[in-house]
Amino acid sequence: MKNDITRRRFLGTAATLGAGAVAAPAVASPRVHPPGWSGTARVDKIATTCEMCFWRCGVLASVEGGKVVRVEGNPDHPQNQGRLCARGNAGTGLLHDPDRLKTPLLRVGERGEGRFKPVSWDEALDFLAGRLVKLRDEHGPESVAFFPHGNGARFFATLMRAYGTPNSAEPSFAQCRGPREVGYSLTFGQGLGSPEPVDLEEARLVVLIGSHLGENVFTSQITAFATGLARGAKLIAVDPRFSLAASKADWWLPIRPGTDIALLLAWMNVLIAEDLCDKEYLKTYASGFDRLASHVREFTPEWAEAITEIPAAKIRETAQAMGKAKPAVAVHPGRHVTWYGDDTQRARAMAILTALLGSWGRKGGIFLPTPIPRGSFDLPDFPEPKRERADGAGKRFPLAIEELGVTNGLIDATLSGDPYPIKAWIVYGQNMLESIPQPARTVEAIGKLDLMVVVDVLPVEQIKYADLVLPEATYLERYDPPTIVESAKRPFIAVRSPACEPLYESKPGWWIAKELAKRLKLEAFFPWDTPEQHLEKILKPTGFGARELVSRGAVAFPGKPYLEDRAPVDRTFDTASGKIELYSEALAKIGADPLPRYTPPVEPPKGFLRLIYGRAPVHSFARSQNNEALDALMSENEVWLATSVARDWGVTEGQRIVLENVEGVKSSPVRVKVTEGIRSDCAYLVHGFGQQSRALRRAFGRGASDNSLMSRVSVDPLTGGTGMRVNFVRAARA
Ligand code: SF4
Repeated sequence: MKNDITRRRFLGTAATLGAGAVAAPAVASPRVHPPGWSGTARVDKIATTCEMCFWRCGVLASVEGGKVVRVEGNPDHPQNQGRLCARGNAGTGLLHDPDRLKTPLLRVGERGEGRFKPVSWDEALDFLAGRLVKLRDEHGPESVAFFPHGNGARFFATLMRAYGTPNSAEPSFAQCRGPREVGYSLTFGQGLGSPEPVDLEEARLVVLIGSHLGENVFTSQITAFATGLARGAKLIAVDPRFSLAASKADWWLPIRPGTDIALLLAWMNVLIAEDLCDKEYLKTYASGFDRLASHVREFTPEWAEAITEIPAAKIRETAQAMGKAKPAVAVHPGRHVTWYGDDTQRARAMAILTALLGSWGRKGGIFLPTPIPRGSFDLPDFPEPKRERADGAGKRFPLAIEELGVTNGLIDATLSGDPYPIKAWIVYGQNMLESIPQPARTVEAIGKLDLMVVVDVLPVEQIKYADLVLPEATYLERYDPPTIVESAKRPFIAVRSPACEPLYESKPGWWIAKELAKRLKLEAFFPWDTPEQHLEKILKPTGFGARELVSRGAVAFPGKPYLEDRAPVDRTFDTASGKIELYSEALAKIGADPLPRYTPPVEPPKGFLRLIYGRAPVHSFARSQNNEALDALMSENEVWLATSVARDWGVTEGQRIVLENVEGVKSSPVRVKVTEGIRSDCAYLVHGFGQQSRALRRAFGRGASDNSLMSRVSVDPLTGGTGMRVNFVRAARA
C-alpha cells in the first residue's frame, strides 16, 4: 500500500478539513538588525525561541555588553505568554557550559578512544566535503545516512537531499511519536503534531494513559492542564505508577503494564452497550460503527478486569464518566508512545475512543490545526535516488512516514549491509546512545562505518566514536528556520534569532550547511546569502516581514480550532472515505487488524521487574544533565521500587544498587526510592541519567541510564517504532 502520510501531516500542519489559510496585513520589512542591535541602537532584550526542549516557547534574552546574562519568557508569545519552565530559565547555563564543544575536532586515535586534534573550520569542512565526494563516487550518495533532530537540522536536511541520499531518520518518529501519528492519521486523516492540540483547559474530563503531565512539563500544556482542573475538570490517570498527575486524579487506575488496549476496548464496549456515544456526531462524520460495535461486544469490563487488574466496576464507572462529559473529553494521545510494539494499534484504539465521544474537533477534546501560508524558494530539482531507502520505511514498515524515516531501520541496514552498505553517518543534535534503544548495537553499527560525523553543542556520548566533530552554536547564538505552529488555537510563526555572537569557534547550523554546500557544488539549493533573506522569503505570503518577526519573536493568526468554526464543506476528513474511519480499510488492505485487538505483552521472567521510565520536570531527555542550575535541582535519578519488592530484595530507601537486565547488562549505581506508589511488577527510572561521556563533567555517571538497559525492543510491524517497555531488571548481585 502506498504510504501517503507525509511529514506535513506528521507535524500536524495539514490543511485538513478544508480550512482556508489565514493571512495578516503586510508591513514594511527593511533589513533585520544584527544580533544585539536594532538599527543603530543597542537593545537589551532579544526575542527568540527556547530550545531547552522542543516545545518552542518564546524567550527574551537580556544582553549586556554583547553577553546574554538572563532569559525570561516572552509575554507576547502565543505559546507560553511569558512563562518559562525551569529548563527554559536555565538556558544561559547551556550557553556558558564550560564543557561545550569549542572547535572542530578531527580524530587522531582509534575510533572509540575519543582522542582528537582541534582543526580549523576550513580544514574540517574540506575534510568532510572530500569524504562525501569520495563516498558518492565509490558507493553512491545513498551510502550516507543522516540522523537529524530539531528545527535547526532542516538546513542539513536540504543539503542531504541535494547530495542525493534518501536515508534520513529522526528518533522523534520511531522512538517517540510515530505510531501515534500513524494511528490517528488512519482514523482521522491527520496526525496530532507538536504541540499536541489537546483542549485541556476546556475539558470537562481529562484522560491520561501513561502520560505523566506535571513530571513531563511543557509550559503551555501544563498551564492548560492546571486551568482545566481548576475549572472543575475530572481526571482519569491510567498509570502503573502513582504519578504526580495520578495524585490529582479522581480515578487512578494502576493498570497492569502492556494491557492498555484491553482497557480501551472495554471502555468502548460500555460506551456502545450503554448508549453513551455521541450518536449524532458519529452519524455525521464516522464510518464503520456497526463493525466496531460487533467487534467490541465480547470485550466486557469483566473480560478486561482479568487482563488489566482494574476492577470491572471501575472500568464501567470511568466509561460512564466519559459518556456523561462528552464531547468535552480530552483523551490525551500521549507523546512518547513506543512501548510494546503494538503501539499503532493502541493509538488507533485511543483515536476510536475519542471519536465515539465526539471529541475530535470539539471544545474540550482535540482541537484542529489552522493552516498558515508560507513562502518557499524556487530550488533546482533534487536528484532522484537510484536506490530504495535503506530503513524499510514504506516497505518493511509499510506505514512509516518516509520523510521522517526509521532510525533503527538505518542501524539494521548499517549492521547487515542490506539492502546495500551504509558507509557514513552524520548525526545532528542528538545523543543516539541515549535516544535509541539497544545502544550496544548502535556502537557495533558505528564500527562498520568509514565515516562518523557529529554536529552538536555538547560532547555527548557518541562523540568518542566520531571521526569529525563540528561544534554548533547554541540556540541563543544562532538563527534557525522559522517555527510554524498550526496545531495551536492561535496558530503562529516564531523565529529563533541570535542574541549574541557564537562563543568560541562554534558556528550556526545554517552556516555549516551552506559552507558544505559550496564545497559540494550544491550552493543552488541555498539561494540566499543571509538568514534574514531566508526568513523574508518564508514569511512573504503572511504579510509580515522579517524585521517585525525578529523584533516580536512570534506573530499569531486567527485560528479555527473547532469543527463548528468551519463551513460544512470544510468538515470532511483526509481519509479515503472522507469520514472518520472507525474500521480501517487501509489496515485491512495490508493484512493488519482493521480494528484494534489486544495482544498480551511479554511477561517478566521470575525475579525480574518490567523497566518503565519517564520524565522529570527539570530535565529534557539526556540533554540537560550537564546544566549547572538544573543539576542543582536534580543531579541524579532514583529507581522506584514497591515496598514489597524492596523488602524481598533486601534493599532500603537511599541505598545505591546496580540494576541488571535479563541479558546481564548492568547500570551504574542508582539510589533506591521505596514507595507504595508503584506496582510490584515494575521498576521506574527517570530517563536521561547515567551518561557515560567523561567530557560532560557534571552529567558523567550520575544515576542509571534506562536506555543502557534496553537490550530488547518489540518493533511495531506497521511503523518500525521500537517498543521499549519489554526490558526487565533486577538488583545485580554484588
Ligand atoms: S517547555 Fe520549557 S524547555 Fe521547553 S521550550 Fe518551553 S520553556 Fe523551553
